[in-house]
Amino acid sequence: MSKIRVMSENLANKIAAGEVVEKCASVVKELVENSIDAKANNIKINLIDGGLTSINIVDNGIGMDKEDAKLAFARHATSKIYKDDDLFFIETLGFRGEALASIASVSEVNLDTCSGDVGTHVHIKGGIMDEISSSNARIGTEITITNLFFNTPARLKYLKSEATELNNCIQFIEKLSLSKPSIAFTLTNNGKVIVKTSGSSNLLKTIHEIYGLNVSSNMLDIKASNDDFEISGYIGKPGILKKNRNHFNIIVNGRIVRNNDINRAINDAYYTYKHEGFYPIVVINIDTDPTLVDVNIHPTKQDIKLSKIDDLTRLLYETIKNTLYDNLLIPNAIITNEENNIKSESYVSKYENQDLESKTIIQTSFDFRANNEDELVIKNADFKKLKLYPIGQVHGTYIIAENEDGMFILDQHAAHERINYEMIQKRFHDETPAFIDMLVPFSIELSTSDYEIFMENKYVLEDLGFNIEEFGINTIIFKSHPTWLTKNFEGDNLRTIVDLVITNHKNFNKDKFLDSLAKMVSCKMSIKANEHLSKEQMEKLLDDLVECDNPYNCCHGRPSIMKFTNYELEKMFKRVI
Ligand code: ZN
Ligand code: ZN
Repeated sequence: MSKIRVMSENLANKIAAGEVVEKCASVVKELVENSIDAKANNIKINLIDGGLTSINIVDNGIGMDKEDAKLAFARHATSKIYKDDDLFFIETLGFRGEALASIASVSEVNLDTCSGDVGTHVHIKGGIMDEISSSNARIGTEITITNLFFNTPARLKYLKSEATELNNCIQFIEKLSLSKPSIAFTLTNNGKVIVKTSGSSNLLKTIHEIYGLNVSSNMLDIKASNDDFEISGYIGKPGILKKNRNHFNIIVNGRIVRNNDINRAINDAYYTYKHEGFYPIVVINIDTDPTLVDVNIHPTKQDIKLSKIDDLTRLLYETIKNTLYDNLLIPNAIITNEENNIKSESYVSKYENQDLESKTIIQTSFDFRANNEDELVIKNADFKKLKLYPIGQVHGTYIIAENEDGMFILDQHAAHERINYEMIQKRFHDETPAFIDMLVPFSIELSTSDYEIFMENKYVLEDLGFNIEEFGINTIIFKSHPTWLTKNFEGDNLRTIVDLVITNHKNFNKDKFLDSLAKMVSCKMSIKANEHLSKEQMEKLLDDLVECDNPYNCCHGRPSIMKFTNYELEKMFKRVI
């Protein structure tokens, strides 16, 4: 029986040809998804000039018989979708037939396909099938698209440069590979292998094949569930960050999607573990009842809406935050550049103006270890027991320390700031805040409007142990302050704290305010760079730092500590090779 049926008129109308096919990557997307629907587990995508000259897809799927091959190019034909709602049941990836008809109407197509004994060859140009014949009997499908948009000059104009079209294809195949670890993908451009995955069904191995050793060896696995969602996958340690969110790989029921709420939850979970404007690499699978996925989003877009999104984002946030908390995250001072070397040899140099910073070309020659069971996993809890011994200071800014495992280098300001930040945060939760009466009360004169705003909001400070009184016209006076505000910093700090209250008064959010307060005060109170420390001071700093919940970053996300392992030291000095 023919596997391909004709979809409803209504659905067909939703998928106007122009919306499905707009660039080389969308052609690749439709064709590769057809291959996946055809149960292929080995898919090769061969581009010439980023797809502008030719797009060739070879799969080992179930193929089509002659009838299906003919029907595949009929408008509104599809193998999977029978009625409107089915379209959005995410398990269905493609719009087989419909997309093919669209593509065939604006290009030249050569199709070779076989589902059994006899293969079929089809040639179509501009939507007109001018050849259908028997061909070889290799099971699967090979399709080649050339002359894209040859008959629609308006759209041809919108195709981007070779580098941009190629980059879009790479991004799509990389993400797709991560969502389908059981399928082997190979993407080539002008004969050069750019993406290659083995279809091992092992997600971490796929991450390795896409991002390289430096990333795959710095991933933490996550797993959690609630009534409606199951999440699993990998999140990157904060030592490996990217400058954009492109590497938030979110997969809902097997399909790569985009959702701002999910992105925000991930970003928030890394709060103070990273600089703002930098993003981790994550690959997260979310499994849920398909009925929770909103059906009113255009099928070719990746953006989705989910019911119960708040439950999902809470689960993601908590899981990621706890995973970061549980694991030891001291970044290695030495980052291996093996992947980068391979990258620079190939096409990246040719397209150096493109944003290919994230692209890696990995041959599978790296020694990938899927499980690190034989390796000692050191958890954050163990870090709290670490004893680091100070050796000395560099430029009055960095502290060198050691223990049995290696050498550590700390940014003394970042480390001290972290210690103060966590100390202050804890004191905010004291039932009865401890305060000190000031020997010399500190007065501040404000403008009339600022004075009004401040007096309205000063209770926030009073709750923390500040005693503030009016002191003449538009002037306030501090008579006491909480004990966490250490000596010598009062005047400077009080002025800034008052400013902080005033600038935060619109849509005042207490938690946000307290966090900014803790950040600001901890920065001001911390040892600066170019400040010489005694051995005792360094010892105290190291001892206090290991007690922190996140000892790895200052409160702004800058690194506070890095490690050279003994092995790296030995490697540097060629004691080991
Ligand atoms: Zn600072
Ligand atoms: Zn900082």
